[in-house]
Amino acid sequence: MKKGCPYGTHRVISPKGVLPQPADVIDNTMEIYDNEVLIDVQTLNVDSASFTQIERQAEGNVEEIKKIMKGIVAKAGKHKNPVTGSGGMLIGTVKEIGPAYVGDLKVGDKIATLVSLSLTPLVIDEIFEVRPDIDQVDIKGQAILFQSGIYAKLPSDMPETLALSVLDVAGAPAQAAKLVKPGDTVVVIGGGGKSGLLCLYEAKKRAGVTGKVICVGGSEKSTDRARKLNLADEYFAADATDAVGMYNKISELTGGQLADIVINCVNIENTEMASILACKDGGTVYFFSMATSFTKAALGAEGVGKDVNMIVGNGYTKGHAEISLQVLRESPALKELFLEMYA
Ligand code: NAP
Repeated sequence: MKKGCPYGTHRVISPKGVLPQPADVIDNTMEIYDNEVLIDVQTLNVDSASFTQIERQAEGNVEEIKKIMKGIVAKAGKHKNPVTGSGGMLIGTVKEIGPAYVGDLKVGDKIATLVSLSLTPLVIDEIFEVRPDIDQVDIKGQAILFQSGIYAKLPSDMPETLALSVLDVAGAPAQAAKLVKPGDTVVVIGGGGKSGLLCLYEAKKRAGVTGKVICVGGSEKSTDRARKLNLADEYFAADATDAVGMYNKISELTGGQLADIVINCVNIENTEMASILACKDGGTVYFFSMATSFTKAALGAEGVGKDVNMIVGNGYTKGHAEISLQVLRESPALKELFLEMYA
C-alpha cells in the first residue's frame, strides 16, 4: 500500500506542488493510501453559494443539475464549483481504513466529513435524488478522507439529513459564539437562512439582555421565519447589495451607533459594502458567505475609510460541530423549524 501525506498532497495531479483544495485536478481513484479512509457516500450537502450557482446555470432543471455536478467531479476528481470555488460536505459510512491512519474511526461508522468537498476525492456513480430546497443530493459513490480531514460521527438524537444541514454551516454559529460579547449590537445579514438562524440564536444568547440583535432577511418570508422564533430584537427585509440602504436602516435602528459585530450569511455576491457600512469603527465583520470577495471587502473598506476588523469565514473553529448541534438541542423551536426545512 502506498504511503500518503496527511494533507492529501499525494492526490494532487495539477498544478503540481499545491494542496488538494486549490488544485484543479486531484486523483479520485478509490484505492486507499496507507493513511486514508474510504467512505461509501450517501448524501452530498452542496455549499449554498455553489448550489445556487449550479441551479441558476441549469435554469432549475434537475437533470441539468445532475449533469453539471457529475461534470465537475469527472473533470476535477472532487466537487469544487469552478465558479464559486466552494464545495460542501457529505455523509456516508466508513468502508475501509488504511493501516497507518490515526483516529477513532471504525469500519461501519456513519460520519459527516467536516472538510470541504472542494478538496475531497469523490466519485459519483449515480445521482438518485436532488433536493434543491436544501441543497442536498443523494448519490451512490465513494470519497476519501485524508488523515488531516475532520469529521463528526452522526448524532443519534436527530435525523441524519438534519445533522448534515447543520454541520455544513457549523463554523458560523461557533464563530458567533466566540465573537459576540455581552452588550454587543449584532447584525446578521441573511438571518433567515440556515447559518443565519443559527447565528442569530448564538448572538442573542451571547449579547444578553443589554445587547441588541438585528436580523436582516433577504425577503419577508425568511425574515418572518426568524421573527416567529423570536431570535432577534429587530427584523427587516432588505437587499444586501444596497449598501447605502443598509447603512441608513442600521443607523436608524442603533441611534447612529452602528453594529459591533456584523455577520454576513448570504449566498450571493456584492454584499461586502452593506456589511462594512453597517459596522462601527473598531467593530468586526465576519464574512461567512462564500460569495465574499476579499478584494471587494478590502478595497471597499479602505475606500470609505472604515477601520473595521474583517474575518474570513473559516469554516472550522474548535468545537464547531458540538456547538452547532447543541443549538438545536437547546432550542426545540429551532429544531422543529430545521426538521421541517431540512430533514
Ligand atoms: P441559505 O440558507 O441559503 O441562506 C442564505 C440567505 O441569504 C437566505 O436566507 C437569503 O434570504 C439571503 N439572501 C439572499 N440574497 C440576499 C440579498 N440580496 N440580501 C439579503 N439577503 C439575501 O445559506 P446558508 O447555507 O446559510 O449559507 C450561507 C452562506 O454561507 C453561503 O454563501 C455559503 O456558501 C456559505 N458557507 C460558508 C461556509 C464556510 O465555511 N465559511 C460553509 C458553508 C456555507 P431569502 O431566503 O429571503 O432569499
